[in-house]
Amino acid sequence: GSTIGILGGGQLGRMMANAGSAMGYRFVVLDPTPDAPCGQVADQIVAAYDDREAAHELAKRSDVITYEFENVDADVAAMLMKESYVPQGSELLYTTQHRLREKHAIEAAGVKVAPYSEIRSVEELREAVRRFGLPSVLKTATGGYDGKGQWVIRSEAEIEEAYETLSRARTELVLEQFIRFEKELSVIAARSPQGEIRTFPAAENIHVDNILHLSIVPARIDVQLQREAEELAARIAEGLGVVGLIAVELFLTAGGELFVNELAPRPHNSGHYTMEACRTSQFEQHVRAVCGLPLGDTSLMTPVVMVNVLGEHVEPLLALMAEADEAAQRLGVAAKVHLYGKHEAKHKRKMGHVNVLAADTEAALAWISETNIWKD
Ligand code: ATP
Ligand code: MG
Ligand code: MG
Repeated sequence: GSTIGILGGGQLGRMMANAGSAMGYRFVVLDPTPDAPCGQVADQIVAAYDDREAAHELAKRSDVITYEFENVDADVAAMLMKESYVPQGSELLYTTQHRLREKHAIEAAGVKVAPYSEIRSVEELREAVRRFGLPSVLKTATGGYDGKGQWVIRSEAEIEEAYETLSRARTELVLEQFIRFEKELSVIAARSPQGEIRTFPAAENIHVDNILHLSIVPARIDVQLQREAEELAARIAEGLGVVGLIAVELFLTAGGELFVNELAPRPHNSGHYTMEACRTSQFEQHVRAVCGLPLGDTSLMTPVVMVNVLGEHVEPLLALMAEADEAAQRLGVAAKVHLYGKHEAKHKRKMGHVNVLAADTEAALAWISETNIWKD
């Protein structure tokens, strides 16, 4: 059997390793935190991501190397490509590590992004805010996640402070027009080295405090728009020459327009619903793609709502399990609990998720509100 190496040992790596182990692959993961979520289900090399000795060891032990986060150091990626097989290449990382490069690549693929402008000075910011109107969103070009590294500018008085604060990150800045979206959607596409492309059904995503709370599938939009969102993701996968997965986050406006928000070249939180609801999960699909296997059937088998379990939800989830099971039986839903083996249940930290399978998404949403686990 072959061994797959993963850069990064979080929950995405863990679920990748679980899916790939069922397919007969072995896994070795590089992560600095001892007993990382993925290290619990795979061999782990405990070292920093930019530790060259550790990267050599990972390359030596792996037949194929992939990653579960996009901020892989360019030198490390280049070294791994020389010493092992990295089917996703380094170009995709280079593009998606930087919001401006990413937007250029999306536009080159013929897909729309929210109007944006590179910002090099506070004067340029003033000028761009005048053009886009208030509110506008200032973002660092690199390193942002869960809404960190961005500032929604709501008045002219905030311009200076927003610029000063985000400039400290020492990366380029980009201003985006604020999109008054009707819904946020995402589509995950997979592409194999042979160029085969498959897309998963679009998810309707609801965020709380910039962190994903719910993914509702099928998205509550008409079928034509669902198809359009999937086609657009496929176009991006093709245009960027993706191998593996690409997650495409989208804004849908009241006028029925779709704009891309951002991309992630890896399994995505909004794709966790596929684990029980699709014939092939995003994790199995990723393994298939990077191993050059035919891609799996992405059909949805049942309506589903995925709800994230954050640090503050772990205790209520465990304490209210009996009531939750009773509610599931009464509502005719199956609530599949996934936990990632993280030791510290910190506030807002992603600890797990629940896939709620039901005859319709309304019943799944009813279960989530009845359990009292996700109160505000
Ligand atoms: P993550 O990588 O965790 O998804 P992030 O920090 O990279 O998050 P974005 O996805 O860019 O941040 O933005 C976070 C959320 O902020 C979006 O899901 C959306 O709700 C809101 N947002 C971002 N940009 C805009 C915009 N231009 N107009 C309106 N809302 C926006
Ligand atoms: Mg992001
Ligand atoms: Mg995002």
